[in-house]
Parts: sequence; C-alpha cells; structure tokens
Amino acid sequence: MNLLPLLLAAAVVSVPPAAAQPAPLHATAQVAANYRLMIGDARVTALSDGTVPIDLHQLLRGTTEQRIDDLLRQNFQTNPAEASINAYLIELSGRRILVDAGAGDVFGPGNGGRLPQALAAVGVTPGQITDILLTHVHSDHSGGLVRNGRMLFPNAIVHAGRPDVDFFLDAGNAKRTGYDQRYFDEARKTLGPYVDAGRVRPFEATGEILPGIVAELHPGHTPGSAFYVLTSKGERIVFVGDIVHAAAVQLPQPTVTITFDQDQDRARAVRREALTRFAADEVLLAAPHIAFPGIGHVTHDGAGYGWIPVEFADRQPGSAAPDLKAKPVLSTSR
Ligand SMILES: [Zn+2]
Repeated sequence: MNLLPLLLAAAVVSVPPAAAQPAPLHATAQVAANYRLMIGDARVTALSDGTVPIDLHQLLRGTTEQRIDDLLRQNFQTNPAEASINAYLIELSGRRILVDAGAGDVFGPGNGGRLPQALAAVGVTPGQITDILLTHVHSDHSGGLVRNGRMLFPNAIVHAGRPDVDFFLDAGNAKRTGYDQRYFDEARKTLGPYVDAGRVRPFEATGEILPGIVAELHPGHTPGSAFYVLTSKGERIVFVGDIVHAAAVQLPQPTVTITFDQDQDRARAVRREALTRFAADEVLLAAPHIAFPGIGHVTHDGAGYGWIPVEFADRQPGSAAPDLKAKPVLSTSR
C-alpha cells in the first residue's frame, strides 16, 4: 500500500499556516492634507509635508531586524516603514506661527516638500507667517525654509535652540564630532539665508519665547533639540521634536535609537523621560514623524508605550447636536 499520499496529507494538515505578511505599502499621494483643532483660543492646524519611506533595518540601533519585523507586523506594516513629515500652524493673537517647515526638496521629488500646498489649502501664504519654531535644525524640519536658495518665509522670525544654531552652522563640527557632514551643508543652505538676513532668534534656555508658547531645550537627538509648549485658557499641547521616528518600534521598545541621534545615550534618556511624563500627565502631543496628523496621547503599555490618535472631528463650530435618541423598537416576537 502506498502511504505517501496519506503522509503528505497529514503533513499539510499538521503544519500551522505561516503568519500572513501584510502587503507592502503602495505609495499614494493625498490631496493637500491638514487637520485642525482648537487649544483654548489658539487654532492649531497639522500640515502634511508628505511621507518618506525609511529602512528601519538600516537606521535603528539597539534592536534586531527580527524584532523590528515582528513589531511592524503587529502594526500591519512592513519595512521600509512610512514616516510622516508633519508641520503645524498655530494661529494665536494675530500671529501665524509654523512649528517646523518640512523637508523642502531635501529628499528629492515626491518625498516631502508639500508644506506650501498644505498651507495654501488653508488659505495661508508664506508671506503671512510671522514666526517659525524649529524643533531642531535637521533638514527634514528646516529644508522647507527655502525655495531655490531663497527664504520662502521672508517675514518670519526663525526661533531655534542656540546649541543647534551654533552646532550646525559651524562646519568644523563635522570633523570634530564625526557627525554626518551632510547636516552641516544642509543647515547652511536652509537656515543660512535667515541668519544672513538677521531673522534668526536663538534661545539659550527654557523659557517663554512668544505669548503662550514656552520653548524647552532637550538635547540628545541634536544639541539644541526643543519642545514647544502651547498653553491657552488652561488647555495645552506639546510640540515635541524627534523623540520618536518609528512609532511601531520605539514606543513599545523606547530604548531603540536611530542613527540620526547625535548623542545616542541622551536621545534615549530624553525619549524615556518624556514618554513617562507625557503618559503620566496625559499630555496632548504633536509629533513630527508619527502618522499624520501626529496629534494624540501616549499611554503606558506594559514595559513600553502606546499611541492613541486624537479623536477625529469634522463639523462646524457651534453646530447643534442632532436628536439621535432611538425610537422604541417594536418587538418582533409577538
Ligand atoms: Zn526629523
């Protein structure tokens, strides 16, 4: 008797199905994306500068490719992951303030650089921007300051941590520290025109830089990385810089760093301290690389953290709530 077909059948039955791999993400472009919410009297608008694929196997440190892939799969993602580039517009007391300026043309055509369209979609021209708050001087946050080598926001004052301005505008620091020369070249191109025009106002330490907005220095990712805390009528949102690049990995495993972190140990410590505090205090965050709009809360989740995006709202302010009370349901059993 030939047992082979039976053995083969048994083998097929006994092997558990392989874990399904999520399909890789297909690149798609959105109509200019923005998302608005009110923080007290301040109107905050998230502006999508676009997304960029990032190879987490190459970029993350302090973990393994297997662990990265496992965490991505739990989030129905694949490597390379898609990183959002979020900027934010704050309208408060007659000012129009940008938090970060997007990547401009740094990543080449099709990756980032869409901030001007996102701004236009909400009826704001670059000339109307009064202030720009840089979370740090890396070019995915400052590349959009310029277009064709000229200031795109000619009427804006650029605020940034003094240590970042001093570090990135001194090209000698590339040799001294071993940090990638590219960042220094890009800083000269993006921030340089504003420095030359006397439009950069670096801050030395934590303090209020505009009415209702406190800048906090948190060196690690870069020497002058900053958070901006907006408070209005007792409500608050914190615009963090690059404390999270790959949420699917770095929230559950906050010890994981990225090659861009200029000081790996301090960057790791800043992330842990900040996430612990934000989760405990239930702080509303705006994060530049978490999926657009990047606004939400972090929560404690085991040894790590989770992310709850802000509740979606899309209706006219002051609109009356419709009467949605259910009518009594007639029993169908009679
Ligand atoms: Zn960044």
